Amino acid sequence: EEQITVLRVLGEQEELQVDFWRHPYSPGHPVDLLVSFPNLQGIKKLLDFHNLSYSIMIEDVQELLDEEKESMRRSRRVKRSSKTFDFASYHTLDEIYDWMDFLVEEHPNLVSKIQIGKSYENRPLYVLKFSTGGTNRSAIWVDTGTHSREWITPATGVWMANKMATEYGQDPSITGLLEEVDVFLEVIANPDGFVFTHSSNRLWRKTRSVNAGSRCVGVDPNRNWDAGFGGAGSSSNPCSETYHGPHPHSEKEVKAIVDFIRAHGNVKSVISLHSYSQMLLFPYGYRRVPAPDYQEMNELARKAVKDLSAVFGTEYTYGSIADTIYMAGGNTVDWAYDNGVKYSFTLELRDSGRHGFLLPSSQIIPTATETWAAVLDIMLHVLEHPY
Ligand SMILES: [Zn+2]
Repeated sequence: EEQITVLRVLGEQEELQVDFWRHPYSPGHPVDLLVSFPNLQGIKKLLDFHNLSYSIMIEDVQELLDEEKESMRRSRRVKRSSKTFDFASYHTLDEIYDWMDFLVEEHPNLVSKIQIGKSYENRPLYVLKFSTGGTNRSAIWVDTGTHSREWITPATGVWMANKMATEYGQDPSITGLLEEVDVFLEVIANPDGFVFTHSSNRLWRKTRSVNAGSRCVGVDPNRNWDAGFGGAGSSSNPCSETYHGPHPHSEKEVKAIVDFIRAHGNVKSVISLHSYSQMLLFPYGYRRVPAPDYQEMNELARKAVKDLSAVFGTEYTYGSIADTIYMAGGNTVDWAYDNGVKYSFTLELRDSGRHGFLLPSSQIIPTATETWAAVLDIMLHVLEHPY
């Protein structure tokens, strides 16, 4: 606990510019932090002084940033000469929004695009709806790109959307699912942040809303929900990466999902994709008591992780958010669970820290492929366990 306090204080000293990639919350869990070169020696000394053992995961983050940029440039050159979307590279917001229209055009009887609101900077919030008809069918909500620097999650969302659209009518699981259940997928849940990661700061996590009385911008959209709002694992400091915002659902991006799920009234599952750490998590995050459906969710998580690992051997841990990663007040899936959505899960995708948020694009398709195995397990469980 003492060491965690040291790390937290370190994070609050703005002049040190420490960026936590994995936050310090509970003993027994590793913390990942990005340190700028001029502060490196001082921080090493401080860690030594407090007996905190450490190792270097990425020697030079700039090198990974440069590689990523170069790989995007290369893929754009290739793309000019072909009309197909490259699922194996990262894309800008405009490219992804254009691709959504293309997907709808190609699969008009299955896929439609709806707008659930606008972001703080007035960008449309789009959701892809996969439906074969019916009225107010049971629905599954999936979101990716909530934390803007977690680029692997929208890349996975795009891949999953394409998978469902192209394999409906061929893959029996996908076909059986979509005959009964609607799927709603918000690929870019935080478009302002996402644009900012392309234009200014690749490692931006939060929304881009201006905080009254502070020069620090943005709210953590995964601490802004009305479930244990302001509790452990969130910060009241607008400069913090986990700032919960002035009040629950203050962020337009969050409020839009809240309004959508409430208005729909028949959402049975919320699946929220994040990175990184390789974990499959479920409520609660804002309190330590086991959720009423703990047993069932734990069994399902065990199966989903087993099937995910069977694809390429990627190791995942699973359990409640509070037990497995840390306390996190105000998170998405706790809100969903407390509002009657029984099957609420968060995945933390690849990797375990070798590249962190800067996962090479060569891992997009393998990551999406294995993630799909787990997501499909959850979706099929929803189909087979109506409530
Ligand atoms: Zn995240």
